[in-house]
Amino acid sequence: MYDVVIIGAGPAGYTAGIYCSRARHNTLLISGILPGGQLMNTTDVENYPGFSDGIMGPDLMTVMRKQTEKMGTKIIDDEVTSVDFQTNPLKVKTASEEFEARTVIVCTGANPRKIGLDGEQTFAGKGVSYCATCDGAFFKDQELIVVGGGDSAMEEATFLTKFASTVHIIHRREEFRASKIMQERALANEKIKVHFNCTVKDIQGDQKFRKVILNNTKTNEDETLDAGGLFVAIGHEPNSKMFQNQLELDENGYVIIKNNTETSISGVFCAGDVHDHRYRQAVTAAGFGCMAAIDVDKYLAESKN
Ligand code: NAP
Repeated sequence: MYDVVIIGAGPAGYTAGIYCSRARHNTLLISGILPGGQLMNTTDVENYPGFSDGIMGPDLMTVMRKQTEKMGTKIIDDEVTSVDFQTNPLKVKTASEEFEARTVIVCTGANPRKIGLDGEQTFAGKGVSYCATCDGAFFKDQELIVVGGGDSAMEEATFLTKFASTVHIIHRREEFRASKIMQERALANEKIKVHFNCTVKDIQGDQKFRKVILNNTKTNEDETLDAGGLFVAIGHEPNSKMFQNQLELDENGYVIIKNNTETSISGVFCAGDVHDHRYRQAVTAAGFGCMAAIDVDKYLAESKN
């Protein structure tokens, strides 16, 4: 029986592990098959405090893991296949084992939705990005493309105008999904050029991303658009499928939290991008991990009385 089982090994999970172990709770972290989360797909991270020269995403996750293990968290590189939060103790299962826990912290993160083209994968981290805040500064004075028509696309495009010479927004329909105020802000920006009724048909490059082939859905004509970077902003998908019948989720699948990091089930807490669709930063995920661990500590202390 563990005091805490943490599911997920991104900044939220590792930080939760550090805090739980330092509070002397018997802590297990199940990392998933590809530990490290979204930062494993990024290059330079310049906005995580403590690294004045920046740090590569995978290196940051390696040191976080080391620190978590050093504090005493047991880490298993396995995938959680199902959970049972209707029982006491709580149950967390992998293909080969079942773990019992007094508390669970869900830190399974989210993944950016993909367009689904081969070139997207080929040039990921080589000009194709899913995070303007993370990567925008690498594209000074270049033409950039943002795909999407929601608030994220407007926000990313507006943010990217700080660096880019021009930002092209590519949207598949004739009108944006984004809130009016975000649209207005983007459309008022002289550096932003909008291409409605266009889908990205192909993503091309050599050593790095160079251009997209756009298809106009009204005329069926193709057009080539050269650019230094392509930012895909067509939404995120929280990794919450296995919690569907266990925890309250919102209509987009994000775990609903109340009173800081509590979920709908007593003893189950949540941290990071699987509930947070607003901030989505490594540093905020780490902050939520810390908060969840402190909430767990309080819960365990109170349940002993
Ligand atoms: P979203 O609202 O789901 O919008 C996704 C956009 O991408 C839509 O315009 C959609 O087109 C397009 N899209 C989806 N799949 C596509 C595909 N395969 N190919 C091309 N285009 C595709 O996602 P989001 O913009 O990330 O926002 C998510 C939530 O976070 C929203 O509730 C949003 O309000 C919130 N948010 C808020 C802020 C803020 O307030 N500052 C900032 C960012 C996000 P269609 O319109 O045709 O479906």
